Amino acid sequence: MLSYEVVEHGKPLQAKLRETPQPQGTEVLMRITRSGVCHSDLHIWEGFFDLGGGKRFYVKDRGCVPPFTVGHEPYGVVEKLGPQAGGVAPGDRRLVYPWIGCGKCAVCADGNDHLCLNTRFLGVIRPGAYATHLLVPDARYLVDASGIDEAWAATLACSGLTAYSAIAKLPELAPRHWVAVLGCGGLGMAAIAMLRARGIGNIVACDVDAGKLDLARAQGATAVLDTRGDDALARLKALTGDSVAGVLDFVGMPATANLGIGALAKGGHYVLCGLFGGELVHPLPPIAQRNISIRGSYVGSLRELQEVVALARSGRLAPSPVQVRPAGEVNRSMEELRDGRVLGRVVLDFEGVNPDRG
Ligand SMILES: [Zn+2]
Ligand SMILES: [Zn+2]
Repeated sequence: MLSYEVVEHGKPLQAKLRETPQPQGTEVLMRITRSGVCHSDLHIWEGFFDLGGGKRFYVKDRGCVPPFTVGHEPYGVVEKLGPQAGGVAPGDRRLVYPWIGCGKCAVCADGNDHLCLNTRFLGVIRPGAYATHLLVPDARYLVDASGIDEAWAATLACSGLTAYSAIAKLPELAPRHWVAVLGCGGLGMAAIAMLRARGIGNIVACDVDAGKLDLARAQGATAVLDTRGDDALARLKALTGDSVAGVLDFVGMPATANLGIGALAKGGHYVLCGLFGGELVHPLPPIAQRNISIRGSYVGSLRELQEVVALARSGRLAPSPVQVRPAGEVNRSMEELRDGRVLGRVVLDFEGVNPDRG
């Protein structure tokens, strides 16, 4: 098999030829056809998350030590089953749910693999999908997404799922209410489409990039706001008539947190997904006085991914903009993503990659 691996943090990924793993027990070996490039891959590549105030969380402390293969938006073909595996057959094309827990604890038994304390997340703890082959612990983590574009389907495993689960955490919305989407990359685009699919009419997309705002409008945002400048909060409140009931922050930096929390109407919810980094400093009394909620949302459950896929297959969800690139362009893609130059989502094409030729 061929994989593009983080060999040294911050340095270009290197193509490596490795022994193709043989599935044991309930494991399933997938041959990857499509693999989405997510912003959080950048953090693992760089080796840390910025906790603000000069503090960092290093991914090596979580067991993620180079050489390591990232990639957690896998789509592929079942190649081989372990002796105890079932439910799929070689040749079946499936989307892979990557947020896999230990499978033994009470949290996993509740169907919340993504909240397990002992995870086996693919591309985070276990080898990921920037590779021709991927080992999946059990066929139950394979989702039938046939009928929709495979590159778009791949992105549902993280960006689609994360957006879906974050939206589920918004309060009940009245027709006058607004939802603000902060950050119009892959997650923001998915969120705008899902809000539209839910019939939400007032969506304001916020970003610092005019091209991304144009894309957001095309995706169905009712209004767009360029958040550059000191008056962004005042402009957001004016544009929405002070009726922002929900904020989805897909950036997660002090500027977006302050903008999102500041813009909330009383009773509103600020949902943080983005992992850009920094720290939140906020006076306590107004959180109570304004009756607001500040909460985090991290990826989503297997059941939620099945719901996202069902929504996509129903035809009610506008596909997110996707650029399919040859797998060998992984380094260029990560650099462009780091520099904020990617419109929509980049998905790597592994279909034609032959490990014998690279
Ligand atoms: Zn991701
Ligand atoms: Zn568990």
